[in-house]
Amino acid sequence: MPLPVLPGHPHFSYQGNALFAEAMRVSELAATYGTPLFIYSKAAMLSALAAYQRGFEGRDAQICYAMKANSSLAVLQVFARAGCGFDIVSGGELERVQAAGGDVRKVIFSGVGKTRAEMRQALAAGIGCFNVESEAELDVLSGVALEMKLRAPVSIRVNPNVDPKTHPYISTGLKGSKFGVAHEDALRIYQHAASLQGLKVVGIDCHIGSQITEATPYLDAMDRMLDLVAAIEAAGITLAHIDFGGGLGINYNDDTPPEADALWRQLLAKLDARGYGGRKLMIEPGRSLVGNAGICITEVLYLKPGEQKNFCIIDAAMNDLPRPAMYQAFHAIVPVEALAPKAEGVVYDVVGPVCESGDWIGRDRVLDVAPGDQLAVMSAGAYCMSMASNYNTRGRAAELLVDGDVARLIRERESAADTFRGELLLP
Ligand SMILES: *Cc1c(COP(=O)(O)O)cnc(C)c1O
Repeated sequence: MPLPVLPGHPHFSYQGNALFAEAMRVSELAATYGTPLFIYSKAAMLSALAAYQRGFEGRDAQICYAMKANSSLAVLQVFARAGCGFDIVSGGELERVQAAGGDVRKVIFSGVGKTRAEMRQALAAGIGCFNVESEAELDVLSGVALEMKLRAPVSIRVNPNVDPKTHPYISTGLKGSKFGVAHEDALRIYQHAASLQGLKVVGIDCHIGSQITEATPYLDAMDRMLDLVAAIEAAGITLAHIDFGGGLGINYNDDTPPEADALWRQLLAKLDARGYGGRKLMIEPGRSLVGNAGICITEVLYLKPGEQKNFCIIDAAMNDLPRPAMYQAFHAIVPVEALAPKAEGVVYDVVGPVCESGDWIGRDRVLDVAPGDQLAVMSAGAYCMSMASNYNTRGRAAELLVDGDVARLIRERESAADTFRGELLLP
């Protein structure tokens, strides 16, 4: 079989027949650290970030990495050191930002179900902004802030009601979504927020979905948002910043999302045309910063030929790579060392050891493999480790961060004992 091409992965490449992560040979890393193994490229993260930074050059803009995409501490350090803030969705994520040395003043707190304890924690830490998702949350947050003799900086997440044309589970800006407040209610809710003593209105935000591969939904959402900004400011409420959320897609499988800088050239042209080009801008990208900066290395355990299907059973599973089971998502699966190319491959369903029929990683893949071979599951930097579980008492995989010819272990492989730490036996 010919070597596969690796679109969207400039920092992972074949040299001869061997897959490399930057300057490190992947098979050697897997031999040292075992499998399943996540390998991230620092250069890939920074070049994805650089596309946004180029797009915003000369603007007053803050990039808040949506850390739920990959919240490993060393990954957060890479973005914190590059000047990013963070979009968090829990008190736990705030603790991770602090543990990684991130700047809490550049933290924005999204999510529909913030608890009072999380609000107190974030107020005490001094985060930059709460992205409030309901009217009820405004009242609770104001009360919590007043008890602490503080005013909470708030932005309200508005649902612009545009279709991001993505998977329904990752589409968040339509009517009927649990996120944000309806566009037609936004002005009234802003007036309510402005009347609450414990709040200080600082911005407006939206986030319309994830894995968006077209510019049009963003352009439409921007128009809808700017209409609202005009109405809210006409009512005497100043919005210091406008936050356009995240959601830009990556190339998993012949997807062709716009480049971040090209997308923002278009969006900024619209902002300028409508007179908002000088406003402080925020964005919350997640997947587009890390998705194609990571791969997951796995070993082929067994080949199981069948009448209807051939199965390639690997040592990574849905607990490590949950996206196929959750969203029917596609990850490219490629050889780590392609031996002397044989004439043709065999069509396999690539599945893990977990006791669920949903535990598949790839369907109908042509592979030329034998037990003991290693495969790389591509585009595994986002929403993989951060969604990983211990189902079937499988310890979570190890993680490496490659920087040129240096590979650092950034997460140890979990042992079975790690997975039941904190559980108590009956007397
Ligand atoms: C998940 C999320 C993001 C990031 O989405 P991506 O598709 O990973 O860029 C941004 N903002 C909010 C509020 C989110 O929930």
